Amino acid sequence: MEARIPYESCPLCEGRELDEHVVADCTGYPFYSPELGSTQRWLRCRACTHVFVDGYFTEQALRLLFARTHAGQEPGHDIEAARYVSAKMVESVNVLHPRLGGRWLDVGFGNGALLTTADEFGWDVVGLDLREDNVRTIRELGFEAHAIELTAYRPEVPFDVISMADVLEHMPFPKAALAHARELLCEDGLLFLSMPNADSFLWATLTKNAVNPYFAELEHYHNFGRRRLYRLLEECGFTPRRYGLSQRYRACMEVIAQRTPRQHAAVSVAKQSSAESPIATTPSRETTPPAAVVQRDAIRLNVGCGRSPLEGWVNLDSARLPGVDLVVDLELAKLPFDDNSVSEISASHVLEHIHNSLGLMQELHRVARPDAVAIIRVPYGSSDDADEDPTHVRRYFWSSWGYFSQPYYWRADYGYRGDWELEDVQLTIDAKFTGMSWAEVFAAVQRDRNVVKEMVATLRAIKPARQPLRALQKQTLVRFVTG
Ligand SMILES: [Zn+2]
Repeated sequence: MEARIPYESCPLCEGRELDEHVVADCTGYPFYSPELGSTQRWLRCRACTHVFVDGYFTEQALRLLFARTHAGQEPGHDIEAARYVSAKMVESVNVLHPRLGGRWLDVGFGNGALLTTADEFGWDVVGLDLREDNVRTIRELGFEAHAIELTAYRPEVPFDVISMADVLEHMPFPKAALAHARELLCEDGLLFLSMPNADSFLWATLTKNAVNPYFAELEHYHNFGRRRLYRLLEECGFTPRRYGLSQRYRACMEVIAQRTPRQHAAVSVAKQSSAESPIATTPSRETTPPAAVVQRDAIRLNVGCGRSPLEGWVNLDSARLPGVDLVVDLELAKLPFDDNSVSEISASHVLEHIHNSLGLMQELHRVARPDAVAIIRVPYGSSDDADEDPTHVRRYFWSSWGYFSQPYYWRADYGYRGDWELEDVQLTIDAKFTGMSWAEVFAAVQRDRNVVKEMVATLRAIKPARQPLRALQKQTLVRFVTG
């Protein structure tokens, strides 16, 4: 019997120039049987460096391989130790997740440790596993579980988290699986992955000493390294957020990625029909999506949109309100967007709530295209409005905006690396000032409280950032409007 269907090209990039990498003896593998072949041949793609086996198993060969189960794959196995290891994994997700709880899908739940621990932490969990006995057992314990391939699973409600712990390297076509996982996640959902890291020094050492167990691992089709995995995630519409070591298996890494917002993703992932099992098909072909989808339109960010999301913008907020596309903690000043990807920013009554305002303005500068415009509205520093709200942490004045540019740091360096030039600053004043000269109004603003109702600043992203030289400071005249 032919145990394997050969890959015609690299399963990640479809490159056809493949070099033999390692040939491993599999006869010592616990579930080895002669029908599966005594050696396993690993190939390396010249185009993208990915390392994978020369073919994936036929359904008949898989039945042979899955006829037996590791004790470690049975639900409840060594649950006391597994609970501690799983708790670390759940906690690492909780740190990045802005809300407590939500829906969590565990793909390939195996012994059920991660699934049941996520449940213990307050997540609503659903498990998928191809071993029907495992699904039956976990259902008897009261959990929702399905014996189905990830790519065939179509739930009605999206998930906040999808975990694939030591799963992706077992899948013949990881791209199709990641693309499907993306579809099942809500807009800012998280993907948890673990697998061996072939880029690690430990991996190299095990290989050099001819004791690397993974080349003879019959259930693995891929040896991912962190670098190729990160590229793959980005190709599939995810932004890597966290790297860590896995305590489950040797030389393994844990990566948490966030679903990249719709407007941002290069959605050129291979699509497979959900009806066909990936095992039964030939390697997936990248289909060319319509030009409108591939073209990476510049993003418009509505930062801290609150209850006022804007149509056609990516609406960011720290709370999951209707219309919010992406829930982010703005204090962390880490946005899941590429450098130079944003053309326009709107932040209305947000900045006065932010402690880490320099961090946020630097991060907005990073994602902004050169000459991108940011329009920022805040209460005026010398108004009751600036202080009466207990969630306001800072006052802003017409002269504050220079400190988001480099030329104002000519005396000291506080580590700020953004450079926003003030194009326009507009102060809204009461109609009773109509008829007064600019100088009279300006004097009133400087002297009295509650003259200005609101301040609107228009900033422009200067890229590359300028030197911190005082000579580069530009004077901008304050404009008054009544309202
Ligand atoms: Zn490749």
